[in-house]
Amino acid sequence: MEPISPASETYPPVQEEVARIAGSPQVRAAFDRFRAQESQFALWQMEATRLAAPPFGEATRAAWLADRFRELGLTDVHLDEVGNVFGVRPGYGSRYVALSAHIDTVFPAATPLNIRQQGSRLYGPGVSDNGAGIAAMLAVASVLASARIAHALPYVFIGNVGEEGEGDLRGMRHVFATPRWRDAIAYSVVVDGAGADTIVAEALGSRRFEVIVRGPGGHSWTDFGAPNPIIVLSRTIEAFSQTPVPATPKTTFNVGVIRGGTSVNSIPESASMRVDLRSTSMAEIDRLERALRVALDQAVAAENRSTARQGIRTPQLAPDQPIQSRMVQSRLVQSEVVEIGNRPAGELPRDARLLKVIRALDAQLGNTAQVQRASTDANVPLSLGREAIAIGGGGSGGGAHTLQEWFDCNGRDLGLRRILLTMLTLSGVSE
Ligand SMILES: [Zn+2]
Repeated sequence: MEPISPASETYPPVQEEVARIAGSPQVRAAFDRFRAQESQFALWQMEATRLAAPPFGEATRAAWLADRFRELGLTDVHLDEVGNVFGVRPGYGSRYVALSAHIDTVFPAATPLNIRQQGSRLYGPGVSDNGAGIAAMLAVASVLASARIAHALPYVFIGNVGEEGEGDLRGMRHVFATPRWRDAIAYSVVVDGAGADTIVAEALGSRRFEVIVRGPGGHSWTDFGAPNPIIVLSRTIEAFSQTPVPATPKTTFNVGVIRGGTSVNSIPESASMRVDLRSTSMAEIDRLERALRVALDQAVAAENRSTARQGIRTPQLAPDQPIQSRMVQSRLVQSEVVEIGNRPAGELPRDARLLKVIRALDAQLGNTAQVQRASTDANVPLSLGREAIAIGGGGSGGGAHTLQEWFDCNGRDLGLRRILLTMLTLSGVSE
């Protein structure tokens, strides 16, 4: 995440509304419950993260979450076709304030999930990203169930699948492609990870590719000179990685996975890599994509030219193939670029109500937060022009996406107060 500007401006009318809500006895009682029930929140967080939730394998955790939603008195608890979990707190309007947390992790199904607590710290893969978000969503639902706060707009709580990596925001995309929710969600509050010091209001766009190079393969000795897909891929990486990128708008690329070949004495039949391009500017992502394709085409052409020069013998021809085309095809390398991820970019307008609300309540709570850009579930509503932010679930955390991930429960209640006040102010609360 990247800071854009300090969130120091405040807006008097919203500020007064936030102060009124924060000062009401029911809301103060809810704040007290956030402190008093901390041990329950930590238990939920550990229970959730002990259930493996790899990309496309979130069903067990989703079922657990649906049970918690029912226990907390949410209505209309159900899962949709892709496995998102919904629960509703009815209100008086037709448009909803959505509070969501992604339930998937980056960790493959076989990852040992040794989730444990030492003092105020929780340890283990996924405990903060997004155990903290799941715990925050349950904490807010729990406190609303016991507090007598009459919020006007209804709330929908969503534990969504497919935020991380190859999930490619599929859960949130599905929510905003569903007729029931598409136009009914007025505001989206996404809770992702720990902390209370950020407001993600700009959606970092990304595009991801699997680049595959295929060739005839062969024996390293007898077929020497046949085109080699690993060499093509290496030359592609060498050329592409020298593409200049601007610091502003910040633009990055990464080759994150490379695969290919079968044995040391075989010319590989194929090789592939996975490439990640990111920017807040779609134009920069387009430019990087073009540079990648040019580097690949040039590497393929160079390898095929060198094969042609060496006059490699042709393999056996299939009887039904024209001799010329079969000869040419079989000796060459070919490439394919498959798009495996595409996250839309977007931005919350500076005069958006949601931005005014979160800044006003940060001022109210004496909290300092920075507006940032990142790639989160909020990309989806932001790219559709809807008001959305992603914020942390309080406390602090580190080591996200590693086995050493941790979450510290100290200060969780500040993050929870922030989330609750955001929702109450957006929905409106009667006296
Ligand atoms: Zn996350």
